[in-house]
Amino acid sequence: MRVHLDLDLCLGYGNCVIEAPDHFELDDDSGKAIILIENPEESDRAVVEAAVRSCPAIALRLEG
Ligand code: SF4
Repeated sequence: MRVHLDLDLCLGYGNCVIEAPDHFELDDDSGKAIILIENPEESDRAVVEAAVRSCPAIALRLEG
């Protein structure tokens, strides 16, 4: 599976970081999300899906 982030949509709410701190962080300069693990392990699917669902800006997408 692969995580996609649309930086044009990301407003830096940080919900994804709260849901999955091992997978996302906020950039100190831009205030926008950074994907730490672009191809998460299958065992992390639930936590990554929760992060994707938590994004109010619909900036995150999971492929595969
Ligand atoms: S939850 Fe969405 S809008 Fe907020 S930082 Fe994460 S990707 Fe960006």
